[in-house]
Parts: sequence; C-alpha cells; structure tokens
Amino acid sequence: MEVSVVITAGGSGERIGGVPKQYRMLGGRPVLRHTIDVFARWAPGCRMAIVVPHGDADRVRLMIEDSPVEASIVDGGATRQESVLKGLRSLSASGVPSSSVVMIHDGVRPFVTTVLLDRVMTGCERFGASAPAVGVSDTLREVRDGWFGGTVARGDLYGMQTPQAFRLDRILKAHEDAAVAGLEATDDVEVYLRAGGRVEYVEGSAANIKITTVEDLELAEMQLTRRAGR
Ligand code: C5P
Repeated sequence: MEVSVVITAGGSGERIGGVPKQYRMLGGRPVLRHTIDVFARWAPGCRMAIVVPHGDADRVRLMIEDSPVEASIVDGGATRQESVLKGLRSLSASGVPSSSVVMIHDGVRPFVTTVLLDRVMTGCERFGASAPAVGVSDTLREVRDGWFGGTVARGDLYGMQTPQAFRLDRILKAHEDAAVAGLEATDDVEVYLRAGGRVEYVEGSAANIKITTVEDLELAEMQLTRRAGR
C-alpha cells in the first residue's frame, strides 16, 4: 500500500526559546533530520511534505540535501492545524493517490521507530484510520486557583502520539471542513472524529517523546546515548 507523509515542523518553538526545537542538534544531527531519516529508512522513496516556518525553506532544503527523500518543503501556517492542512494540500496537488495512506507526524518526535510505523500502518490499512497512544500512569486531578479539586478517573485516558494515519482524501476533507467551520483541534484524530470518522487505537511507545522543552532535549540526548550503547 502506498504511503505518504506530512512532517509538521512549522512551529517557532516559543516554549523552548532561541533556536526552534526542530533544528536543535541531537547527537550531531538536527532533531528534524532524525525524524525524516526514520521515515526514509522505513519507506524509501515515499512522498513527503515537510512543513516549515515561513522563510525557512532554504535552511531545511540544505538539511536534507544528502538525504534520499522525495520531499516538498511547504510554508507553514499560524497553527499546527493550518500547517497540516497545507501539507495535505501539497501532497494532493503533487498527485499522491487520494485513497492512499497518509501519515501525519510531528517533526519533533525523532524517536518514532519503524516498528511503531508498521503498527500504525497495519491499523490504518485494516480500519481506515489509526493512531498511537499511551496509557496515563500518574494520578490526574484538577487544579483551580491553586487548590486541588476532583480526581479524574484515568482508566480510559490515553496520551495521544503521532504518527496518525488516514486515507488522504478523508483527512484532507475533514481538515478543509474544519477550517471553514473555524474548528480548532490539537491533533488530527480530533479533526477526523469531529468529521464523523472512527480511528483505531494502536499501542504507542513511551520512547516516542515530543521535544517541547529544554528538559525534553536533555532527555532526548540521554535516550540517544542509551540506544548507541546497546
Ligand atoms: O506546538 P506543538 O507542540 O503542538 O507542535 C507540534 C508540532 O507541530 C511541532 O513539530 C511543530 O513544529 C509543529 N507546528 C507546525 N506549525 C505550527 C505550530 C506547530 O507545524 N504553526
């Protein structure tokens, strides 16, 4: 089954400050390059739309110069949702078959593995849409004005990860409709569910962290060192 990929890397990294997190170095390579390399290993020659902050296209083109990926560099939007829509439109316009599978993945999750990609792909082929998530282990409780309130039952709660996989035509339509309706979502599963779709759960991985803060970057360095020592 043909697969294409949208890599979202259009954020400006306000939480981390300074150089946006997707460009931070991790074991001698930018975070984003690690992420791209995993997909290039998993599906050589797959079509990729890499969505980057406005004005960064040359920087990213240089970053992937020696990579075998077939990528379009796409100008990002003001929100992640807008960036995804631009990436999907770009894949569609470049002739990717409308019923093929598209994976949407955060550029700042460099520890995604080919095993996880296989799992998500299998789910999507069987059910039309799938996404990885991990169960919550902490006790969850509301905080209001500095005081603890009710405890939230965590049995059915999961933390969503990427990649999230869909048929290109269905997720593109869901995003187009969401944009027209002014609906805001923090991931693509939400956009798809609100459009009436169903998404299969697949088991995510604790190692598949999203690099958001300086602490995450330090954790990522440790994770990389541990892997290299194996
Ligand atoms: O900010 P957040 O943690 O939701 O970012 C998740 C991913 O979405 C990051 O890889 C970031 O670069 C990307 N993003 C984007 N366009 C935006 C904001 C975030 O592609 N406008």
